[in-house]
Amino acid sequence: MYDLIIIGGGPAGLSAGVYAARAMLNTVIIEKQPINGGQVLNTYEVDNYLGIPDIDGFNLAKKFKEHAEKLGAEFLKGEVKEIVDNGDFKEVILKNNDKIETKTIIVATGTFYRKLNIDGEERLRGMGVSYCATCDGSFFRNKVTAVVGGGDVALEDAVFLSRICKKVYIIHRRDKFRGAKILQEKVESIKNIEILYNTITEKINGKNEVEGLLIKNINTEETFDISVNGVFIAIGTVPDTGFLKGLIELDNNGYVIAGEDGVTSKNGIFAAGDIRLKALRQIITAASDGANCVYSVEKYIEKI
Ligand code: FAD
Ligand code: NAP
Repeated sequence: MYDLIIIGGGPAGLSAGVYAARAMLNTVIIEKQPINGGQVLNTYEVDNYLGIPDIDGFNLAKKFKEHAEKLGAEFLKGEVKEIVDNGDFKEVILKNNDKIETKTIIVATGTFYRKLNIDGEERLRGMGVSYCATCDGSFFRNKVTAVVGGGDVALEDAVFLSRICKKVYIIHRRDKFRGAKILQEKVESIKNIEILYNTITEKINGKNEVEGLLIKNINTEETFDISVNGVFIAIGTVPDTGFLKGLIELDNNGYVIAGEDGVTSKNGIFAAGDIRLKALRQIITAASDGANCVYSVEKYIEKI
């Protein structure tokens, strides 16, 4: 039986792997993708991870994996479909029906960005289509960008981008924002932000990079083009926690309710990284969660 199973080989899971190896816990990291690294693998350039500026996501992810491997972490490729709690020990069941027993589990399965599912979105991803203004905003200095969405993230992204970009459009499908009033007032007061209410994006134009958007006013049915160099899609994220429903406490959006220590509503199951209900979802906060969770695991194992 393992001391610890880590589900997910992104920054949270790999950081947990490093700390678990150093704590001499008998651990395995289970990742469903052929390569470990999580969302970092999809990041063209990471410029905000402390001590490693100007690195591309693929190489940063490689460094994370190599670090955990060097310290002796064990890896398994597989997709977890279920966790069964048998009291003192737990069973992790993979999609191929293999069952693995463990004393504790760290769930670090991350989130995925909700997609618009429109023409150009997938093809131009990383070529002007982004889901993370904090990550990619600086590539659009003095350029024109658009943010799609009307929640807190979209409004915060627009404020952030307005300091970098020449002009920022906000494209929102209703006549009222969902985001906080204070943010609404802020975006309305910023001169280089133009708000397009009651509009949806029908197509992202561009050959090798984003050149513009085809917009439709849903009241008048009128369609028109706007020229932009980048589009930030901020229409919410979806946590990868479907297999946890009914097992541990989740909020209405599916995020795991757990504090910085990763302790969830179920004894022996901990949560780290983007799946946890928290304010800032970044590589550095995911790595920090992984470390905190292993500390909690050690304390838990001492008691059982
Ligand atoms: P993830 O990175 O999502 O990793 C979760 C892992 O779990 C994945 O590998 C997934 O395959 C695996 N998994 C999921 N379900 C299962 C299952 N059932 N069984 C087995 N494995 C499973 N942050 C920054 O700090 N700087 C940046 O520049 C930056 N740029 C970004 C650019 C893009 C395009 C995106 C999408 C995100 C960016 N972020 C950036 C955010 C950052 O990538 C995330 O905050 C971070 O990766 C979260 O780490 P995580 O380990 O919690 O989750
Ligand atoms: P969100 O609150 O769910 O907002 C998503 C926005 O995208 C909504 O305005 C929604 O429109 C729009 N949208 C959804 N699907 C769409 C589609 N297919 N096409 C066009 N528009 C679409 O998500 P979020 O902004 O990512 O925030 C997530 C959570 O984090 C929220 O609870 C938020 O309050 C919280 N958060 C808080 C802070 C803060 O407190 N400072 C900061 C960031 C995030 P409708 O409005 O029409 O539904």
